[in-house]
Amino acid sequence: MLGICLVAIAVTLNVSWLILNWREGVLAFFGFIFFLLIIAGLVLNTIFLVREIRRNEQHDSFINAVTHELKTPVASIRLYLQTLQARELPDEKRQEFYRIMLHDSDRLLHTIEQVLRAGAAGSRLRRSARARLDLSEIARECVEIARTRYHLPAESLCLVDATRSQPIVLGDGEELKAAVYNLIDNAIKYSESPPDVRVEIQDTDTQKLVVRVTDHGAGIPPVDLKRIFKRFYRVPASVAMRTKGTGLGLFIVRSVARKHGGRAFAESAGTGKGSTFTLQLPPAPPTS
Ligand code: ADP
Repeated sequence: MLGICLVAIAVTLNVSWLILNWREGVLAFFGFIFFLLIIAGLVLNTIFLVREIRRNEQHDSFINAVTHELKTPVASIRLYLQTLQARELPDEKRQEFYRIMLHDSDRLLHTIEQVLRAGAAGSRLRRSARARLDLSEIARECVEIARTRYHLPAESLCLVDATRSQPIVLGDGEELKAAVYNLIDNAIKYSESPPDVRVEIQDTDTQKLVVRVTDHGAGIPPVDLKRIFKRFYRVPASVAMRTKGTGLGLFIVRSVARKHGGRAFAESAGTGKGSTFTLQLPPAPPTS
């Protein structure tokens, strides 16, 4: 705001000065050039300032989200352990407590892995293992994990394998699994319950292997379709902000895609209209 006011004042002063002294052409010309330089500096300064403020806000909300995601499951596990220690419980109840604690420790592990993976994705130094992997297998595994974790029937999360030959990619299995799982996890997280999510694998004519995850959930406003892949970015709409998250998932997806020579992008008709995320990867060269 201050930057905009300064620019407005500078423009007014300079234009009136030019009108009053129009005869002193040469001086006016140089004055005008310096004036432009000052304005450009002010505009750049304002842009950087606004960016920095936004980044700080995102860092704050990321730290809040991670703290919450670390504290909540630990507190829950602790409470169940204390109950188990203090009281004699029937076998059925004990089994239920164990199940909840396992679910909480999974959640904890997922958050820790996301943070570590995002750190590794940010540093260009790390080289990862490369192996020939079947993308259908990876997608199948991720779908199975998500179905178990969210207790979903096959119709809520379906897998469609439309490949004509075995879709082999050259890459790091753990990283590719994390990327595909993040897309499925988001599709479920940002949908009403029960979700309607479709995971499709294709080998397109353009020599690309594609994993496409479509949901009918919260959708994404057009301005945010690119921004959501930035680290810590979360759509400031109500549905997204009510859902737990750190803003790291899609950053990891994009980093993994790029590292494997592919790309990731999102499509959505807008808020409330569902979304489609595509992960494109180059097929592995045939072995001779
Ligand atoms: P997180 O889900 O932890 O917030 P992500 O990086 O995975 O972080 O996603 C960034 C943001 O993109 C989310 O906060 C959400 O606003 C939006 N988003 C991601 N996937 C979807 C989806 N399937 N439907 C609607 N919005 C989504």
